[in-house]
Amino acid sequence: MASGFLNRFAGRAAAAPRTAEPASGIERVADRLRILDEAERAGIAWLWATDAAGKLIYLSDRALAALGKDIADLVDQPFDRLFQVDENADYTSRSLSFQLKGRTRIHDQTVRFAHGVPANASCQTWWSINGLPQFDEAGEFQGFRGNASDITVDYERQIADSRMADFDSLTGLANRHNLDRLLDRTLAAYRSAGRSCALLMLDLDKFKHVNDTLGHQAGDNLLQQVADRLLAVVGERGTVGRLGGDEFQIVVPDEDDRGTLGELAEKIINLLSQPFPIEDKRAVIGTSVGIAVAPFDGAEREDLVRSADLALYAAKHGGRGQFRFYSADLKNEEEERQELLDDLRDALQDDTLDLHYQPVVCVDTSRVVCLEALMRWEHPERGFVSPGVFIPVAEESDLINLLGEWALRRACGAALAWPRSVRVAVNVSPVQFANPGFVTVVANALAHSGLPPERLELELVESVFMGDSEAAERTFAALKGLGVRLALDDFGTGFSSLSYLRAAPFDKIKVDKSFVDSCTQSDRNSAKIIAAIIGLSNALNMETTVEGVEAFDQLEVVCERGAKLIQGFIYSRPLPEAEVNARIASGKFLIKPDGPETYRPDRRSVFRRIGVIHEDYYYNAVMRDISRIGAGVEGIVGLEPGTPLVLDLGEGQLIVCTVKRVNGAAFGVEFESSLVNDGAGGLCTRHRVSPYTIAAAGLPARPGTAGPTEGKRNESKPRFMEVAVGASAQAGSAQAD
Ligand code: C2E
Ligand code: MG
Ligand code: MG
Repeated sequence: MASGFLNRFAGRAAAAPRTAEPASGIERVADRLRILDEAERAGIAWLWATDAAGKLIYLSDRALAALGKDIADLVDQPFDRLFQVDENADYTSRSLSFQLKGRTRIHDQTVRFAHGVPANASCQTWWSINGLPQFDEAGEFQGFRGNASDITVDYERQIADSRMADFDSLTGLANRHNLDRLLDRTLAAYRSAGRSCALLMLDLDKFKHVNDTLGHQAGDNLLQQVADRLLAVVGERGTVGRLGGDEFQIVVPDEDDRGTLGELAEKIINLLSQPFPIEDKRAVIGTSVGIAVAPFDGAEREDLVRSADLALYAAKHGGRGQFRFYSADLKNEEEERQELLDDLRDALQDDTLDLHYQPVVCVDTSRVVCLEALMRWEHPERGFVSPGVFIPVAEESDLINLLGEWALRRACGAALAWPRSVRVAVNVSPVQFANPGFVTVVANALAHSGLPPERLELELVESVFMGDSEAAERTFAALKGLGVRLALDDFGTGFSSLSYLRAAPFDKIKVDKSFVDSCTQSDRNSAKIIAAIIGLSNALNMETTVEGVEAFDQLEVVCERGAKLIQGFIYSRPLPEAEVNARIASGKFLIKPDGPETYRPDRRSVFRRIGVIHEDYYYNAVMRDISRIGAGVEGIVGLEPGTPLVLDLGEGQLIVCTVKRVNGAAFGVEFESSLVNDGAGGLCTRHRVSPYTIAAAGLPARPGTAGPTEGKRNESKPRFMEVAVGASAQAGSAQAD
């Protein structure tokens, strides 16, 4: 209706004759003005007009009255400053300025009255406007003529409806539909600009437990609190949404720094693992986070979401409460886990698993007081597999119970051959602990071996408290009834709630290695925490073992802080049973500390095929070890200290570095900027080079596999010589814990 009126009005205006009109014509003009006037006064039409410069020159009185403005307030103001399109709702519309400058028809465009009203003001006036550009006979642009109507009531209802369609009603966060659209839009816009966008996928741990035990109302309340905490951490950096259930998603535009993203994920994990007050109770949950970054891990929404999902899946299986970045290796993770589980079952069946024993030494006397049994598995193809890898896999099935029972029986049997003063410690998985038959398993292992119960120490971690607390208390009481000793392992890495110490009759606390790793750093907070844990443990009449001491500088710090019992490489690595027995047979079991003067932060042994770029030549090489600040590489002859190189670790991870040491084909490099935690106990580069750049540079898809024609090999002569490196030297370094 409104546009019909406009068309008539506009059509006439365009055809307005310039020459003197005949009498009937004058009458018709007068009629027209009168009708127009009446229509305006009746409020049937609100009319507006701009001049050629886009400034308002006319607005109907009714319209002015509705806005509560005087014509003097608005006239001569640029029209596109008075009115603006709703950018939050209408992604497809060009801005009003664009439409006015284009001098094309404006059709049923929703605009808000913006003069002195900020976009986020709660009270807005919404108009629908039409407009036609006017040209004189010479084709000169004269400005726009148009009409308008107030649609505020309808439009606000529409906004409210779309809020329902776009937002999760429980938490008020963006919903899946909204997030999908946001991602589509962002990725499409960023692709051409070469910008990056990170996607964090979250899944709450133990949420189902809260829902089941405290009820749905409590579950809903918890989700709202989770949403509030997420909004608080993420702030302006990104958009938080809820996909449904206990799944959340965070879109962080313009972020590809994996250091920053890892820190954000850690913050989120920490914040969500703090207890939530629910009615008069406390609920403890946690979260796992999977991270993928566009365009590296997917340039389209579907691909990016799939990558983040895979990373989340890996984070959950990595032991929960962790974050994980997507990497191409994750693709087959589920298959790998299944294979590993089958192989582990076979290994137990075929009796090819082993236990090694790591001494716990009394600092004052150098005497071994205890040996901790640690599982060892030499996989027929993979070689040494760390218990840090296979224990979590076993925990997902009943296999952990069988493994645990095997370890208990084996360790008790072994300890019988040792002096009475030496205890044996056995690790117990929380899954095993929660098994109703666990106490019987321990009792049987003791009875079967004949080991006095006080010589057996069970190492438990804090998460044994996570399940049914009454059942846990009964198990503690029954174990104490058997007469075995209990140790709280990895203390300081979980919630470290003091109430656990009150609730359970522990005889020993084991201070986690992570505190020792950083105890020599200048802020010394870790050293203070070690002192506090030892003090607490003394006050409660418990023993303390400090784990993971490797170097003399660390030994000095922990002894200074009151440590009496130490377990770490400085005294001994875990030893095979035969070696323990031989040492015992050869006399007193005393060990003196022996190790490096100072602790070198985690240099990890690896065997990884990489690429090394020097000038425009690409070499294949093998990386032997890596730390945050440098790496040991092998496979190129002729390098000199000071040579600048770029290491290609794959997936766009290029590291600028300088050669520091050379020894034949082996060399050590120092990185220009340090690596960051990859969430999986490994390291990764902060930034990656985009897949487009990599393809353009002609780098090989998998580093360390460049054929003779790849990597710009033909464009120059190599300065150095590439030598082949096999995997043979690997076993020794990987075995070394
Ligand atoms: P944990 O119980 O905290 O065992 C200590 C781990 O720290 C062992 O790793 C040990 O080799 C390592 N370690 C000790 N001193 C040092 C040191 O100075 N430097 C370094 N870098 N490491 C040191 P391992 O053998 O790889 O075991 C890892 C974890 O796997 C154990 O942590 C334990 O939680 C689990 N695990 C091992 N064996 C068993 C088992 O039989 N049953 C269960 N349920 N878990 C086990
Ligand atoms: Mg342990
Ligand atoms: Mg430990």
